[in-house]
Amino acid sequence: MVLFCGIYEAGIISDLILFRSDAAAQFHARQGQRRRRATRSLEIVAPDDTIDRFVDDKFSMNQSDSLNRLALFVREHPRLFVLTGAGVSTESGIPGYRDENGTWRGGQPIQGPAFIRDEQTRKRYWARSLIGWPHFSRAEPNAAHRALAGLEELGHVCHLVTQNVDGLHQRAGSRRVTDLHGRLDRVVCLACRKIVSRSELQCRLEARNQEFAHLEAERAADGDALLESVDFLRLELVDCDECGGILKPDVIFFGETVPVDRVRFSMERLRLSDAVLVVGSSLMVYSGFRFCREAKRLGIAIGAVNLGRTRADEMLDLKVTETCTAALPRLLDEL
Ligand SMILES: [Zn+2]
Repeated sequence: MVLFCGIYEAGIISDLILFRSDAAAQFHARQGQRRRRATRSLEIVAPDDTIDRFVDDKFSMNQSDSLNRLALFVREHPRLFVLTGAGVSTESGIPGYRDENGTWRGGQPIQGPAFIRDEQTRKRYWARSLIGWPHFSRAEPNAAHRALAGLEELGHVCHLVTQNVDGLHQRAGSRRVTDLHGRLDRVVCLACRKIVSRSELQCRLEARNQEFAHLEAERAADGDALLESVDFLRLELVDCDECGGILKPDVIFFGETVPVDRVRFSMERLRLSDAVLVVGSSLMVYSGFRFCREAKRLGIAIGAVNLGRTRADEMLDLKVTETCTAALPRLLDEL
């Protein structure tokens, strides 16, 4: 490995960038010459030396520079562990919980423990979901999903872990996918664990609740709809047709934990990878952030494509501040 140590005359930038080959260092040296009047030194160092940040907005790089570096990052790390979040699906018409600064957008989301113990909470959830589901289920993969599937097709993806529950990666063609927070198109019985499709449940819900089925409301994250000012208690719940148990969407609600075996499997894939690429996630939820922490501990490089700040900004070796749909198709063209 080669560490390129650039000491820049501008007086404000002094950074360390870790690369795997001389070619990579030379590439960046040429880029540096074009952009800056620079004084620099090139040093060979031990592999366990410090990896420091390489965050694009710090360098005021233009989009072309960012994409060059992202393409280089992907070429240099052929076994990517891709970690995706809501930003990948926003242009498929599925809103996220947070804005680009990682700030919460709306009211409190459904809490898992409240859903399980409280019938009123379940009625509120299913009433809103009954309105939100038709739109959610019609969402189509966008250019970012397709580009990530293309990246896998080219052999660059060891595994993809998504925090999204929409199944759009699989529909775009990605095969090595773990749905960390489950899937909204499945419903599970909490008593007998029978799984039924969400579409089937929608039919049963609509048949029993015609007065709700025709309501309109603004779309919210995870197939929710901002339906208020109606009497949720009038909703007639649908139970498991096998045992009469409580039905719950097969997703991890806030206040619940991701199953241990799912986390363990994902961590194993992370350890087989040589870099993490975060795509469209602010990583504010620990269940995703933990993979960056583990990568950092293992000395695995971390890159990110995200429009706003992330909880892992201090850990990043590369950051591209663009939308996923803008950056990823162009990345694919560069490879
Ligand atoms: Zn059941």
